[in-house]
Amino acid sequence: MNANAALQARRAAAVPRGVSTATAIFADRAENGELWDVEGRRFVDFAGGIAVLNTGHRHPKVMAAVGAQLERYTHTAFQVAAYEPYVALAERLNALAPVDGPAKTILFTTGAEAVENAVKIARAATGRSAVIAFTGGFHGRTMLTMALTGKTAPYKHLFGPMPGEVYHAPFPIPHYGVSTEDSLRALEFIFRADVEPERVAAIILEPVQGEGGFHAAPPEFMRALRDLCDRHGILLIVDEVQSGFGRTGRMFGVEHTGVKPDLITVAKSLAGGFPLSGVIGRAEVMDAAEPGGLGGTYAGSPVACAAALAVLDVIEEEGLLARAEVLGERTRARLAAFEMRNDLLPIAGIRGRGSMIAFDVVATRGGREPAGAAAKQVTGRALENGLILLSCGIHGETIRLLYPLTMSDGLLDEGLDRLEDALRIA
Ligand code: PMP
Repeated sequence: MNANAALQARRAAAVPRGVSTATAIFADRAENGELWDVEGRRFVDFAGGIAVLNTGHRHPKVMAAVGAQLERYTHTAFQVAAYEPYVALAERLNALAPVDGPAKTILFTTGAEAVENAVKIARAATGRSAVIAFTGGFHGRTMLTMALTGKTAPYKHLFGPMPGEVYHAPFPIPHYGVSTEDSLRALEFIFRADVEPERVAAIILEPVQGEGGFHAAPPEFMRALRDLCDRHGILLIVDEVQSGFGRTGRMFGVEHTGVKPDLITVAKSLAGGFPLSGVIGRAEVMDAAEPGGLGGTYAGSPVACAAALAVLDVIEEEGLLARAEVLGERTRARLAAFEMRNDLLPIAGIRGRGSMIAFDVVATRGGREPAGAAAKQVTGRALENGLILLSCGIHGETIRLLYPLTMSDGLLDEGLDRLEDALRIA
């Protein structure tokens, strides 16, 4: 039995099947955009640990910052003895965040924890309880975030009942037959049928849906939501957990729309591979919760804060926002050529901003009928070719690209060559 298979057998016996893994490989080591498995096979990494590695695996600056922090202290609990890296990171994020007026930031550990706390803060600030989210949205796997997530199987299946006061409107995706107007009308229906706007604390959405298939919220939709929230005293939360930190060519995905949210949730690429998340928001909203109401033992780990400060330096020093555009252009041009080729599987819907790029594997050339099983074959073949590739989307038909923004042109091209091979009709 080879090393991966032996570990798979141990894993199957020791770890429940509820946590699934997209590939059958076990990691041995990784560097920037490459990963080696326990059998010494090299892979180009287009998954980035699910959007965590915009600055790549083990960026030298991040490693150095973490190393220096390890020499001083690794944990005190911010609630027991506070530390400067937390405050410094909050200051940096406050200055970057596209919110109106002064901002404040509180740190946590996971994306779901950030979303949970954004809702707690919104409830405290408004004195209201209801939250509206969107179909296809993903906000996490904890009780409340599972309820907010707009997809039943596999996320909600067997786990009910869901917490109350969560409502869903359809997310505008024209090729699924939902226009911006349809979406806004559905919100009016919710206000009439389920919950009056005076009881709604927040509307939450991803500026670019991640797990749902890399669908960007149209700017006019975001503006209409902002207007709706202002009219009814509802807070607008944007979940930037997947779209943040340069992925779309801006620091935050919502910047493409010109809309200023009240609260922003961040995680993933914030800390370059270390567990860290946060809620950034308008200062007066952020101060609504009473002392002691927010926090967590590990929330804002000093090691992760040191990593995040280095990540923000790297994004700036290496010009990664511009780099996301350059790599994105290069990728989109290749994908557009793939779309024209008769010897490759039919693909459609090439989309995305910066380097948050996806396309759909479809049943027929020129059509839009999703082909989820074919997309699964593509990611499987890519792995055989030495490329780690993730799918997503409502029917699993979407292939999403989440390569590090620190990748060289050469490594990106190598990954795209392997993707081309994986799309070849057998
Ligand atoms: N929000 C979004 C937009 C996400 O993409 C994710 C994770 N895929 C989460 C929240 C949850 O983050 P975590 O898995 O760190 O709890």
